[in-house]
Amino acid sequence: MGSHDRVYPKPRIFISRCIEFEACRWNGAMISCDFVRALKPFIEPVTRCPEAAIGLGIPRDPIRLVYSNGKLELYQPATGRFITNEMSKYCHQEMSQLGILDGAILKEKSPSCGNREVKVYASIEPSAPQHSKSQGFWANALMVAYPHIPIENEGRLNNFSIREHFYTAIFTYAAFRNAKALGTMKALIDFHSCNKLLFMAYNQSVMRELGRITANHTEQNLQSCYAAYESKLTHIFKKIPRRGSMINVMLHGFGYFSDKLESRERSYFLDLLNTYLAGRVPLSACLSVLTAWVERFNETYLRCQTFFRPYPQELIDITDSGKGSGSMREL
Ligand code: SF4
Repeated sequence: MGSHDRVYPKPRIFISRCIEFEACRWNGAMISCDFVRALKPFIEPVTRCPEAAIGLGIPRDPIRLVYSNGKLELYQPATGRFITNEMSKYCHQEMSQLGILDGAILKEKSPSCGNREVKVYASIEPSAPQHSKSQGFWANALMVAYPHIPIENEGRLNNFSIREHFYTAIFTYAAFRNAKALGTMKALIDFHSCNKLLFMAYNQSVMRELGRITANHTEQNLQSCYAAYESKLTHIFKKIPRRGSMINVMLHGFGYFSDKLESRERSYFLDLLNTYLAGRVPLSACLSVLTAWVERFNETYLRCQTFFRPYPQELIDITDSGKGSGSMREL
């Protein structure tokens, strides 16, 4: 199967409900988010609004993270009410109800859903927020319950590079779940073969360890193979690969047919790689040229490689906020 006609299994993604699903923010508004709207048909969304769920109402007086008696609490200044116990109880209960997740998209800065840099106040007295920042209660519970899935907020995902890698991870995890559901050695070997170049770009040593598991020299039973593979797989997307690493893999693919190309085509591509290295074009620009050649020369091994299109083409949107550090959550 070629990269253009691949069927992508739907990742199960937790999304804070106020992003494109319901007008449930404290002010009764919904967050409009282009990429979540585009993503909806390609995923199985799992949504919650923890603040509405514990009965704070819509709209409601805002809540904040405060230190009180040395403890981090959720506090509603307008009513003088602490919400910590209700929220902790809800988070604890719901984590067992969410089921399998391949990733999560959280509302940034929220004292419930924010996964990083949420403002913390020094006390319940009116004051400016402290320098120290924390996670919202729901985000924290999610990160503890799902330590290996990519969890991002919608603000960071406006950065094209972070979004591209988030999509790569979630669609790969969903494809692995499909192989696992088949549960055969062939399904595991096929999954690994098709992801080989992708894994090579991300982390060569983990790729080799995954290869050893699929080779199964120690003749473990299937269940143990899948379990060992899955636990290693969670290491592969720890970090966004450097551009140099992506270029090495692209050159590896290019080597399959470079002698069949005109010299001006070769130069065009090598110039494009340099432009990508300088950060002036996205990875997808280089991949689309390579993909066209993979199809033209009908390179069977390359045609199945997820590296060329790790997620549905419809989701390639190079709009970029220009913000974000480029590093994913340390998994
Ligand atoms: S950030 Fe979370 S708690 Fe706040 S409105 Fe959105 S879903 Fe609800």
